[in-house]
Amino acid sequence: MVSNMVSGQTHTTAEAPPNGVGAPAHAVKRVSVLGATGSVGQSTLDVIGRNPHLFEVAALTANSNAKALAEMAVRHRARLAVLADETRYGELKECLSGTGIEAAAGAGALAEAAARPADCVLAAISGAAGLKPTLAAVSQGRRVALANKECLVSAGRIFMEAVRKAGTELVPVDSEHSAVFQLLAGADTETIERIVLTASGGPFRTWSIERLEHATPEEALKHPNWSMGRKITIDSATLMNKGLELIEAYHLFSVAPAQLEVVVHPQSIVHALVGFRDGSMLAQLGSPDMRTPVAAGLSWPARIAAPTRRIDLVELANLSFERPDEARFRALPLAREAMAAGGMAPCVLNAANEVAVEAFLTGRIGFLEIPRLVAEALDMAAGRGLLGEAEDAAMVLETDAAARRLTFELMDKQARN
Ligand code: NAD
Ligand code: MG
Repeated sequence: MVSNMVSGQTHTTAEAPPNGVGAPAHAVKRVSVLGATGSVGQSTLDVIGRNPHLFEVAALTANSNAKALAEMAVRHRARLAVLADETRYGELKECLSGTGIEAAAGAGALAEAAARPADCVLAAISGAAGLKPTLAAVSQGRRVALANKECLVSAGRIFMEAVRKAGTELVPVDSEHSAVFQLLAGADTETIERIVLTASGGPFRTWSIERLEHATPEEALKHPNWSMGRKITIDSATLMNKGLELIEAYHLFSVAPAQLEVVVHPQSIVHALVGFRDGSMLAQLGSPDMRTPVAAGLSWPARIAAPTRRIDLVELANLSFERPDEARFRALPLAREAMAAGGMAPCVLNAANEVAVEAFLTGRIGFLEIPRLVAEALDMAAGRGLLGEAEDAAMVLETDAAARRLTFELMDKQARN
């Protein structure tokens, strides 16, 4: 069973009725959404809103936008709304006054919200900031539908150990990993030969290296197929997103790095493929819309309605595949090397990338400097002895912070030269 690989538990569609009789076959499930104001968060609330007979909202969290969070909490009748940014607590409280919805703020409140009773926690905070709250949800042993890939990249081994220890059901929501998860349902892991993740190639798929040198944030933010948050959109343009996803797949599906492949598929219709030892290859197809993997994450193994555009193969006519160009998109081999090195190399890769992406978005560095800076940060971290195994999440977060500091150091040094 694939569920054993990812979750250590088999999945059930409905909870056992509390009194054994008379309870509905599909009890209404309480869902908490971490990162509710983001792109995946909004897709999640859209699916929940369309299935009010199946779901109700427990807690909603966001970073600092009190007004947006309060509006969502009211619209979806959440019990609790939490901001990471403590300075906005007053604003949130005011927005929610008279609604009966509890308000809270700060890192502790965020972790508490994640650990609150819920049948499913949809983890959609962006970046390593999602690690602590997602681990808080994992430790409760409930279903975690995981969009936040950075927490698996930074702390994969520790995260998966926590999942096994708590007996948590972990259902991937990242579209490629949701695809693999669906393709592996019922499969014996021994029979898997390879897993292929597809990449759209991003807006710069056909750009020359000379042109890439001058790519602007506006150009990088124009993703051809997906509408997503800013950080992941830049990661898609550099192909770092696919690099992070290789590491994510490595931890989720317990395969060897050599069994993981990336193929560029500009139409973003086939999300992943799995090849088995008998030569059979299965593919999962769907429109590039996160509401499909979100729906699967919330309800698996049941399938609930999602309003995504249906595929018309004849209209599409052509599905094409090509090899990624690792000379132009250095982030991909860099991520592979970090995956092979193991220890804290993926954590440093991720932290340096988060800093570099922000620096690119604010015009401080050029597009091709993103992978250059990440490579230099990895070298510098190795020199400082930062790449060993972490013992716990606290050590991962220390390494993450150290990697961010040294990436800033590198940028300052470059600015002086
Ligand atoms: P986004 O930037 O649109 O939203 C991020 C959410 O996290 C927001 O609600 C924001 O308020 C919250 N947040 C940000 N920083 C925070 C912090 N420091 N503390 C607490 N909360 C914080 O991002 P997104 O595109 O929705 O992506 C979310 C995650 O899902 C990422 O890990 C991304 O890689 C992954 N993912 C996204 C998509 C997509 O289509 N957008 C697809 C696959 C995977
Ligand atoms: Mg993805």
